[in-house]
Amino acid sequence: EPDRMTGVVRDPHEILSGIFGYSEFRGEQEAIIRHVVAGGDAVVLMPTGGGKSLCYQIPAIAREGTGIVLSPLVALMHDQVMALRLAGVRAAALNSSLAPEERRAVEAAYLDGELDVLYLAPEQLAVPGTVEFLKRGRVALFAIDEAHCVSQWGHDFRPDYLRLGGLATEWPDVPRIALTATATPETHQEITERLFLGNARHFVSSFDRANIRYQIVPKQNVRAQLLAFIRNEHQGEAGIVYALSRKRVEQTAAALRDAGIDAVAYHAGLPADVRLDAQTRFLREDGVVVVATIAFGMGIDKPDVRFVAHIDLPKSVEGYYQETGRAGRDGAPSEAWLAYGLADVVQQRQFIDSGDGDQATRANQTRHLDHMLALCESVTCRRKYLLGYFGEFDAPENCGNCDVCLDPPKLWDATVPSQMLLSTIIRTQNERGRTYAAGQHIDVLRGVGSERVTQMRLDELSTWGIGTDWTVAQWRGVVRHLVAVGLLEARGEWGVLWPSEAAKPVLRGEEQVLMREEVISRATSSRSSGG
Ligand code: ADP
Ligand code: ZN
Repeated sequence: EPDRMTGVVRDPHEILSGIFGYSEFRGEQEAIIRHVVAGGDAVVLMPTGGGKSLCYQIPAIAREGTGIVLSPLVALMHDQVMALRLAGVRAAALNSSLAPEERRAVEAAYLDGELDVLYLAPEQLAVPGTVEFLKRGRVALFAIDEAHCVSQWGHDFRPDYLRLGGLATEWPDVPRIALTATATPETHQEITERLFLGNARHFVSSFDRANIRYQIVPKQNVRAQLLAFIRNEHQGEAGIVYALSRKRVEQTAAALRDAGIDAVAYHAGLPADVRLDAQTRFLREDGVVVVATIAFGMGIDKPDVRFVAHIDLPKSVEGYYQETGRAGRDGAPSEAWLAYGLADVVQQRQFIDSGDGDQATRANQTRHLDHMLALCESVTCRRKYLLGYFGEFDAPENCGNCDVCLDPPKLWDATVPSQMLLSTIIRTQNERGRTYAAGQHIDVLRGVGSERVTQMRLDELSTWGIGTDWTVAQWRGVVRHLVAVGLLEARGEWGVLWPSEAAKPVLRGEEQVLMREEVISRATSSRSSGG
């Protein structure tokens, strides 16, 4: 084991107060910082707003040499560097947007040991000569920000991150710290493996954001619903409204302005000065509402955002959690509001099907979407679901601060159709030795023949036609719900649905399946209104 302890020049606590002006460390910051300062590797899972930046900035300053921060967000590097420089930290960034003379100045400062922190985009490491260049200077540590981007099955994979595994072999003597605000247990494991952090200490903070109230409502007239939500509960307060498309962003911002709300639009298609203006107004003025695509928010640190509203369904629980996490960083009561309808599901499925990813990518996207749907349709505490998704299973059944806990939904007993569906899936697999898509199971249950059905002799199954009491939409609701509550699992790279261990008591009639009534009625009415 190399001695990584050498070259510590300043005390972390003195840096915290002297440079950053804070009197106390927060949560696990101190333990993390002391571990890295002493030369240890670390994996840090901490929610948005938890204070991850100091976990590598302070060790970078404390240790001799330059802390190299690998961050995917080139657009934010400039702001981060400026903020550090204002505090008196010697910081710079190397990325493709630099003019040649700027680049030469940054390189010279690094080689002369005059930088505490150097931001680098992961793709820079692929540029020939970069590794050799970095080796000519002294590296205090490597910080790998947004480390979940290394996970192929996560929601935000970036191939350039795979290269970061090489740091372990190129610089065995330099401590590495990987940080993320979004990691399921699977992603956490992938981070550890792919970045070769086998000897790292793991610091996993609770992901609970107790001051955020979660609310998910069925979508009807979403613009009117949003307006009522803002007027009744957040008049004059700062908030973020997320929409999926640029057009919807602009239309919604205009509608809110017409209704007298101080709303600005933000998306990547707007000119840079318009975007900067929107961002500056949001940060500096009181009570501005930003209507935005998910391009907005990364690296924006506004403590008093009172609400985050989603008028379209997020693509993953990770994304939803990250976006809603921008509310209430000051700890004061805040709200995460989401309106969700069947049309969202259809649209998202179409996005996935028409996307340019391969089969495995689509299966992965579908899996993420299914978990998001599961959250929407959950009949139990939203917070418990969210925390469970991120691997925390000890949350109470009732958080007292989400829509389900505050106003429990009306339930529908879906035990019988669930049993029918589960046994159909098991029969087709056992008797035909093949796997089928959800739609084919539903055809079997409803006794709907197709060329494929007869060809596969599915009409000879004993569950053929036993489910005609329910519509296709209702059956889809049941499928979604069973995936939602984990009775059906999507397995393997093809995402084949298969009953889980937890489905056995349901099949034996020992456990009930309860669904939200509103999902069923919506499903039914959507049939007559054409979707
Ligand atoms: P994250 O990257 O985890 O989302 P940040 O590093 O941006 O979080 O920190 C969130 C906010 O909390 C920032 O405004 C930061 O200055 C502040 N902060 C971090 N650590 C402390 C601390 N020990 N005391 C007070 N404020 C802190
Ligand atoms: Zn709850």
